[in-house]
Amino acid sequence: MRYLIITDLHSNLDALDAVFQAEAENYERVLCCGDVVGYGPSPNEVIERMIACEATVIRGNHDKVACGIDDTAWFNESAERAILWTRNELTASYQTFLRNLPAGPWVSSNHEFQLVHGSIIDEDQYLYDDGDAYDALKAATVPITFFGHTHLPCFFALNIHGDLISEFIDETTPQSRTTIRLEEGTRYLINPGSVGQPRDRDPRAGYALFDLDKRTVELKRVEYDIEAVQQKMERKGLPEYLIQRLAVGR
Ligand code: ZN
Repeated sequence: MRYLIITDLHSNLDALDAVFQAEAENYERVLCCGDVVGYGPSPNEVIERMIACEATVIRGNHDKVACGIDDTAWFNESAERAILWTRNELTASYQTFLRNLPAGPWVSSNHEFQLVHGSIIDEDQYLYDDGDAYDALKAATVPITFFGHTHLPCFFALNIHGDLISEFIDETTPQSRTTIRLEEGTRYLINPGSVGQPRDRDPRAGYALFDLDKRTVELKRVEYDIEAVQQKMERKGLPEYLIQRLAVGR
């Protein structure tokens, strides 16, 4: 089975469609680690896509605020303005879709992998460093965990000897794809990077392809029409800071 792994779509329909088009022949199922909405201009359309492709989706912090499960206490000013706009824009049935999203971890039926938004221990925790990754990997009950939330493509691995390996994919490693070969006995935490609002200084949409049989995960990027999204955001009156950051990927 081949999976398309996506996270942090953030209402960016153009970026999401570019990913779907680039990989149309290359996966059978879609798995999403949350933050379907927030920041971007097309929340209803992005939810529509998730339903249409029968994606497995867990909730992110923006999804929780957009449907009223949480308040905006932890949001900065532009994130708050965008999420209040999103709340108003969402149809009643898509509000319900967000409210019904499960919290991570969502564990696959074969117990090979799981999805979380922030971390294994806490769905809202940001996983940036080796210490937090080590604690999370120690707590992992399945070999492979996909996560999001930081918008930074990276992976952490804890091998059979207890050694932690970590790698962030950023401007120092500018290749357009990175393949992780999954080894028996090693536990992994893998972030495909954000589809809709990358923050690693590469503005292209980030995602991963996971081949369970070949035991590989490819971290990939695809270009999309950023200007078209920026124009939509301007028309909807979304904050200038959010419009500008898409072009620089941070
Ligand atoms: Zn996010």
